[in-house]
Parts: sequence; C-alpha cells; structure tokens
Amino acid sequence: MHSRSKLSRSGGGIGGLAFAVALGKYSDIDITIYESAPVFSEIGAGVGVWPRIWRTLQKLELTEALKKATHKEPKEGLTDTFQFRKSDQREGHDIYKLQTDGNFLTYHRAHFQNVLVENLPSSVKIHYNMHLKRYEQNASGNSAVTLHFADGTTFTHDLVVGCDGIKSTVRRQVLTEQASNAATPEEAQEILDSIPPQWTGLVAYRNLVPVERLKEYQDAHPELNIRVPQADSIPRMYLGKNVNVVIYAIAQGKLINVASFHAQHELAGTKFPGPWVTNVDKQELIDVHEGWEEEVHAIINCTESPARWAIHASAPLKCWNSGHVALLGDSAHAMSPQQASGGGQAIEDAYVLATLLGHRLTNKTNIRRALSIYDNIRRPGANLVAEKSLLQGRLYGLNLPGEPDLDWSKCPERLHEIGDAIYENWSWTWNSSLEPFVEKAVSDLEKSEEIFDKARKASLQMSPDNTMTPLF
Ligand SMILES: Cc1cc2nc3c(=O)[nH]c(=O)nc-3n(C[C@H](O)[C@H](O)[C@H](O)COP(=O)(O)OP(=O)(O)OC[C@H]3O[C@@H](n4cnc5c(N)ncnc54)[C@H](O)[C@@H]3O)c2cc1C
Repeated sequence: MHSRSKLSRSGGGIGGLAFAVALGKYSDIDITIYESAPVFSEIGAGVGVWPRIWRTLQKLELTEALKKATHKEPKEGLTDTFQFRKSDQREGHDIYKLQTDGNFLTYHRAHFQNVLVENLPSSVKIHYNMHLKRYEQNASGNSAVTLHFADGTTFTHDLVVGCDGIKSTVRRQVLTEQASNAATPEEAQEILDSIPPQWTGLVAYRNLVPVERLKEYQDAHPELNIRVPQADSIPRMYLGKNVNVVIYAIAQGKLINVASFHAQHELAGTKFPGPWVTNVDKQELIDVHEGWEEEVHAIINCTESPARWAIHASAPLKCWNSGHVALLGDSAHAMSPQQASGGGQAIEDAYVLATLLGHRLTNKTNIRRALSIYDNIRRPGANLVAEKSLLQGRLYGLNLPGEPDLDWSKCPERLHEIGDAIYENWSWTWNSSLEPFVEKAVSDLEKSEEIFDKARKASLQMSPDNTMTPLF
C-alpha cells in the first residue's frame, strides 16, 4: 500500500512549481512549498518552450492554459523556427533558416509562471517569506528531514526537494554530506569544489522592448518594417564574433524579448568582477555591438537600462541526492541558457521524480530507492544538455569546432556550416522524447521491487531459528 508522505519543496521557480503540479496528480502525497520571496515572481523577460518539453507539459495537462498565454499556435510538422543572420558588419545577411519538427513557443515569464501557479493542487501548502538556512537529517539519511529557516522556525518532512535555483542552499548541504561520505580525500575535494557555480565567461543583456517603440524608432530603415517581430514572426538570431543577439515576440506580440550575449571564453571559470545581475546604461550594450548592422542597432536603441546577467553554471554533479533530500532544476544543473533549455530540463526532472514518488510501490520507508532511480535517469541527460548549451554558445559566436581562427570574410560560403552544426546540436529538443526515460524509471522501480521481494523471501526461508524475521 502506498503510505501517505509529507513532502516539502524549498523554492517556487519554474522547477518547484512544475514539481508541485506533477505531484498534485497523487492525492495521497502532502506537499508544502517554502519560498523565500513574499510572492511567486518571475523577472520581466521571455522564456521559450521546445516541442519535447511541450509534450511533457501536455502530460501535466497544462497545454490548454499555456495556449492562451501566448500568441503562438503550437504547430506540428516541419516549421520555420529561427532565422540566423550574420550581423557584425554594416550590411548583414541571412545565413540559415532553422526548420524544426514542431515550433518553439515563446512566453513572457510571468505569464508562463501564472499558468503553473493557477494549476497548483488546491491542497498544496505555501509558505512565503521563508528563507531556508539549512536542513538536518540523521547520519544514515533514512528518516525525516528538519528544515531550519532564517526566522528561526523549523518544519519536519519525510522528503525535501531543493528547487532553490542556481545559488541553492540545499545543493551546498547535499554535496557537503556526499563529500563527508566520499571514499577518498581527493573525491571529497572534487565534490566540494563543485558547490559554487562557475562563471561561464558569458554576460547576457536582457530587456523587453515594446513593438510600438521599435516601429516608432526614427532611424529605422524601410526594411526594418518587415522584420519587426509581429505576432506570427519567427525568432531571429543575430550572430557576430563571440556576440549574439536573440529576439522573439512575447505577450501576444506586444513585446520583443531581447537577449544579447557577449562571450569571453578565456575568462570562463574566473570570478566575475561585479554583481551577477545589475542594470547597466544602454551605452554598454551599444558598445558591444559597435560596427553591427542597423537592424540590430534599431532594437538595441529601443532598450532601456538593460539588465546585465553574468551567466554562471554548475559543474556536472556526480549525484543529486543525499538521504531523504534531492535536487531539482537549477539547483541540480544550472546551465548556460544558449539552448533555451534550463527551465525545460527542470520540468523534465519534475515529471520523472513525481512519477517515481507517486508510484504505488513508493512509500516513506523506501524513498531513497526512488531518489536513486531519479538520479540515474535524469542526471546524465541534464548534464548532456548543459554541455550542448556551452557548444551552442560557441557556435553562435561563429566558432566552428576545430577551426577557432577561421576568417569568415575569406570563406562566407561556409557560413551555413554554423547553421548545420546548430541544427545537429539542438535537434534533441524536437526529435527526442522524455517518454522512454519515464518508462525506464518505472521499470527500474518495479524490477528493484521484484529483487527486493525475492531477497526478502529468501531471507525468511534462511532464518536459522525459523522465526521468519525479515532481514530487510
Ligand atoms: C538569459 C536566460 C535565458 C533563458 N531562457 C530559457 C528558455 O528560453 N527556456 C528555458 O527552458 N530555460 C531558459 N533559461 C533557464 C531557466 O530560466 C532556468 O533554468 C529556470 O528558471 C530554473 O528554474 P528553477 O525553478 O530551477 O530555479 P529558479 O527559477 O531560480 O527558482 C528558485 C526559487 O527558489 C527560491 N529560493 C532560492 N533560495 C531559497 C531559499 N534558501 N529558501 C527558500 N526559497 C529559496 C527563489 O526565490 C526562487 O523562487 C534561461 C536562463 C537565462 C539566464
């Protein structure tokens, strides 16, 4: 019988909310969310969703609500998805049109998050203004976990899932516990070194531009009028040496999400000199695009005080759990955003973990088995996406693998190779499915139950005094 579990999640971003929605399908699990902010909030920026993630959102029964939150119609079959342009010159030109099986749906983050919040199970308990400081579980990691908050309060739950983002408090403690159980001092040090996220050498300038402002932009050359992202336009990616700009329409086509990435690969792994997120003067963004085509300058000139994000990522972790505590979303795999996939990976974590925890064979005495299968199934895939995201950033910066010093002015006919490589690296987002991984997770859980059952029966038969004492 599936016994009732008390479960807590710390953090309410895309990952935490999606997890609560997914778990809400299992009425015998109590869910509590602890969120450090006074309300659930998302920054004013865009977020894109790929067909593979859309299919998981369908399983979560969110797609009808999500369709209403965007102007874009979900499409199946071959679709124009991104227009790539070489733009680091006075006269840019198209270099590649990315066509995918199904389309990339774009949202205002707040609208996307609202759909998750509105679909939370009514039974979920939410505590705002609760900043987690640490947790406590016994050394064997086989029992309930007590959470300690900044205001001095404590709460105890059967399982804690840290959905607390890139600067995760839960990750720090999970990895510290893993290090204390490591086989060698070297292994322990390696685990401890992976606690702080590393700067990728990338900064992203983010801003939302009203379409009307761009239309009014005085110096817009005539061609701009047909390029302004209308509701039915496709996202555009402007490429230059180690700088790229992505724009797409959100908010029913009223706003343009603008993100400009500037890569200094040689600085990856160093400490970013300044705050991770800060508003900067527009001039800084203009300077980064000096010599670029007017089409890009028109958009940049319409931004106001863009937010500069120093993009950090975590090292690929070797394990996402410790005892009755697990990691999900950016706390487990903060990655460079160049594949627009960090949020999608958090949604996949949420679906797989909820499926395992909600399975009839999982109860509070064998939570660790579900966490171990979750880790085996999800971690390699998420780590691979993180790796692909870094490669994608290099490609956007016009760096072909193995030919970093290629002078594009001497071989413009080869620019399509950048597009081909991007297609290849990104194709998992429309060509693959989470479904086989979910099936494997469930089958591993059921197989391990069979093994457990056989071993339990054998131990009963072997009991020397015939008292039938189970050894498990
Ligand atoms: C420029 C950029 C563009 C991106 N574009 C895309 C995209 O198009 N598609 C996509 O899928 N992904 C994209 N991503 C990635 C995506 O934004 C993240 O992967 C995703 O938001 C992570 O969600 P999360 O819930 O794991 O973490 P977060 O969103 O960081 O949420 C963490 C939550 O935990 C709370 N919290 C933190 N610490 C504590 C604590 N100690 N106690 C209690 N609560 C706490 C926070 O307040 C927050 O609510 C992009 C990222 C960037 C930077």
